[in-house]
Amino acid sequence: MTREVRELVPVDGETFRFYCCGPTVYGPAHIGNFRTFVMNDVLRRTLEIGGLKTLHVRNITDVDDKTIRDSLKAGMSLGDFTQMWLDRFHTDCQALNLLPPHIEPSAVAHIPQQIAMIEELIEKGHAYAPGDGSVYFKISSFPQYGKLSRLENRELEVGKTQNQRAGQLADEYEKDSVTDFVLWKGRRDEDGANFWQSPWGDGRPGWHLECSAMIREYLGETFDLHGGGEDLAFPHHENEIAQSQCSCGGRFALHWFHGAHLLVDGKKMSKSAGTVYTLADLEEKGFSPMEVRYELLSAYYRKQANFTFDSLHAKKEALGKLAKAESELRTHVGADAPPAYEDLCGLSDFGTFTEAWNYLQDDLNTAAAIGKVFTGLKQAANKQDWQGLHAILAALGLTLPVIEAAGAADIPSEVQALADERWEARSSKDWAKSDELRDQLKELGWVMKDGRESYELEQL
Ligand code: AMP
Ligand code: ZN
Repeated sequence: MTREVRELVPVDGETFRFYCCGPTVYGPAHIGNFRTFVMNDVLRRTLEIGGLKTLHVRNITDVDDKTIRDSLKAGMSLGDFTQMWLDRFHTDCQALNLLPPHIEPSAVAHIPQQIAMIEELIEKGHAYAPGDGSVYFKISSFPQYGKLSRLENRELEVGKTQNQRAGQLADEYEKDSVTDFVLWKGRRDEDGANFWQSPWGDGRPGWHLECSAMIREYLGETFDLHGGGEDLAFPHHENEIAQSQCSCGGRFALHWFHGAHLLVDGKKMSKSAGTVYTLADLEEKGFSPMEVRYELLSAYYRKQANFTFDSLHAKKEALGKLAKAESELRTHVGADAPPAYEDLCGLSDFGTFTEAWNYLQDDLNTAAAIGKVFTGLKQAANKQDWQGLHAILAALGLTLPVIEAAGAADIPSEVQALADERWEARSSKDWAKSDELRDQLKELGWVMKDGRESYELEQL
């Protein structure tokens, strides 16, 4: 709201409560959508690794112009259609290592809360039902309207005739057509069977209202942070502020977190140019979801990022290098499997990765933090450094590919026998013998990588 960087401190003194606008489930999410979701995920992870408790709410838009239009086209019920795309979204989120939100409410499951909010807005003089079956928010009743998106010279087009009102029913519109926006849409033929009863007749809620109603339900009037892609600042978030502040009276979000868009080949993604890539499209071309995540992280969230296949190739290589360096460091410091996420939350000493951590803490500069991971690796020497590395990787949500160990056929039988013997010694906690056998293996040029259940042998 103020365009300043502020320290994030939970307003209730305990839990950092934040909301980000979730997907509209009418097709597969594209990598642009995932840039926004990944950045919100890194925000949460960074807060948690920093020792804060979080409450993360992300909604599902399962009723709007697009979901209704496309479910009818597909000949499916709205519920079945949106569930199908929600399942796909969840699969993609898991592949990208996004932490599931603590609460994931859907618009359709919160119709009564939305109706109640409209009633309150009408009662307080912020909304009106002109008799066309719809209800509109009166933006002239809220002088702060436009503050978040710095809307200048706005023309408040209020009190339109019924014919002119058609444009106000759209979920999305541009800044040059600021008008009273719709809270409840009267039933239309093109909605098919998708309508609910209300005091104003059959219809459905407008898109902007769902977030205000669900935020009130799960986070209350005032909460720590609200996020989404930059396109949501106007009109969506502007409308959310108006609805929520006029009905609840609270301060609403204390901070705003908007991510700049992802471009492809320097241009807006476009269906006709074939540049609206999904995770599946990229997997088909041989890129793993983790390589895509790395690519999405590699630009500072305030700047537009440009996706190209050249840069994705470079990330594939960089992730491999990172995995190799981690594996060498693990061997060097004699560590086991990476620490669990929970054990890294609240870590105070990041060793040679302190600079990387500082960049993450300073307005989530993922680009600079990743650069500093490679610097930190050059100096990393002990277990603290190794832990610091894993804390940064956990904050970035990056998991590393497994380094291929030598095939069984390449391992000399003498080496294999020593390794088996050492594994037995280690399993029965005979540490002295285990160490001695480790040294013998080292002399032969081999190193054992201990996992939880088994080990791998690698040539030095
Ligand atoms: P939607 O499913 O269309 O409601 O969008 C989900 C999220 O993706 C919203 O936060 C949008 O702002 C965001 N988004 C849409 N396009 C892009 C893009 N090209 N780059 C980054 N974020 C985007
Ligand atoms: Zn929203």
